[in-house]
Amino acid sequence: MKSRPPRSAIVIGSGISGAAAAYFLARRGVDVEVLEAAAPAAAATGAADGAVSVASKRPGPMMEAALRGIRLYRELAGEGLFADLFKLRSTFIVASSEQEAQVLHAHADALASTGVHTERLSRAETARRFPVLSPNTEMAVEVHGEGHAIGYRIVHRLLTAAGMTVRRDEPVRRLLVSGGRAEGVETSRGILKADAVILAAGSGSAHLLGLRDTFAPRKGQLLVTERAPQLNAAMPGAIMSGRYLLSKGSQKTADAGKPARGIGLVIDPLTTGQFLIGGTREDTDNHRTNDLDAVSRILADAVALVPGLAEVRLLRSFAGVRTAVVDGLPLIGRLPGLENTYVTTGFEGDGICLGPVAAKAVVELACDEEPSIDLAAFDPARFAGIEVAA
Ligand SMILES: Cc1cc2nc3c(=O)[nH]c(=O)nc-3n(C[C@H](O)[C@H](O)[C@H](O)COP(=O)(O)OP(=O)(O)OC[C@H]3O[C@@H](n4cnc5c(N)ncnc54)[C@H](O)[C@@H]3O)c2cc1C
Repeated sequence: MKSRPPRSAIVIGSGISGAAAAYFLARRGVDVEVLEAAAPAAAATGAADGAVSVASKRPGPMMEAALRGIRLYRELAGEGLFADLFKLRSTFIVASSEQEAQVLHAHADALASTGVHTERLSRAETARRFPVLSPNTEMAVEVHGEGHAIGYRIVHRLLTAAGMTVRRDEPVRRLLVSGGRAEGVETSRGILKADAVILAAGSGSAHLLGLRDTFAPRKGQLLVTERAPQLNAAMPGAIMSGRYLLSKGSQKTADAGKPARGIGLVIDPLTTGQFLIGGTREDTDNHRTNDLDAVSRILADAVALVPGLAEVRLLRSFAGVRTAVVDGLPLIGRLPGLENTYVTTGFEGDGICLGPVAAKAVVELACDEEPSIDLAAFDPARFAGIEVAA
């Protein structure tokens, strides 16, 4: 396909999706303006864990896209852009009971069937490879070739590399639509025109797309510990509890009057020597609070898996909200009826992994290039009700 980039573009939102879109547009010589309701990485991107991972995925379009997502991180690390930001490491999914071991065996088969490099470790092999794990660990599956990246650092790097100054505190109110295309946008400060518009506004996308009941908030609470270099160095990768696989599905429970909540444990040893420990999945958009019940349950689960964590102090807790789409798939592609307008949003708990590759794909579409991931399953046109706020 012959490449025809637009001369100018507006990107709405400066989370990882918007920052990556701006970067890939700038790399093609497009004149870009990034409009942001608050500040770069102010929403989900600044409150995420950061697993760049397929470990919890099932075969299908999300798995395919996540594999591409990891490959892109590796490429950008190889080029130098993410060299110091992308930490390559394995994920060890561990089973603490017979029931979890059964789920894990089936999951390992599914991962291996898509070509993901996995290794099953018996109880003894797990103890040898990962000595800080609890002796109650039944077995583990090592998923090779994965990584970790801190979302706000990636955003900063992408915007800096693109030479981009974000227009902060300038929310977009509506798209200016005429003759089957967006001519520009109306913001809190006035009107801005461009040849193409990329909507990467996370939960703010719902209003601009005129979509009701299509997105759902999923709060997550996370913890960060102090530095514990020895324990950290003894961990050859991240730990994911076998229960995490269940929590991503239907294992949520709700106490009377409270939103449904699931807890699935992930412990990531950070390059700083600290640990990032998460997290919850809760059906609410309240990102302002952490509660003692969630924090104490996450800590108890973490210490049960890695007893040495009992000696490590908790430094802080925080919460963020993932933007989920009701059918479990993000919206990535051209907006129906608008030839120059694209959306990339709705990544739930996968946007650090998928954000850059999805943004690259919509930029490729906008520039008449072949998108580097198959976008069929993510086509926004599957929601007939899309009616942009125009
Ligand atoms: C607790 C937690 C843990 C997570 N863990 C992981 C993980 O381990 N791995 C992983 O891959 N992903 C993870 N995620 C998911 C990931 O953080 C998100 O999917 C990703 O950050 C989404 O990025 P985004 O740029 O699409 O949206 P956001 O980061 O939400 O950014 C959207 C931006 O648009 C702005 N905006 C909104 N409306 C407007 C408007 N009208 N005009 C202008 N700007 C607007 C917002 O202010 C915001 O800055 C986690 C998320 C949470 C909350």
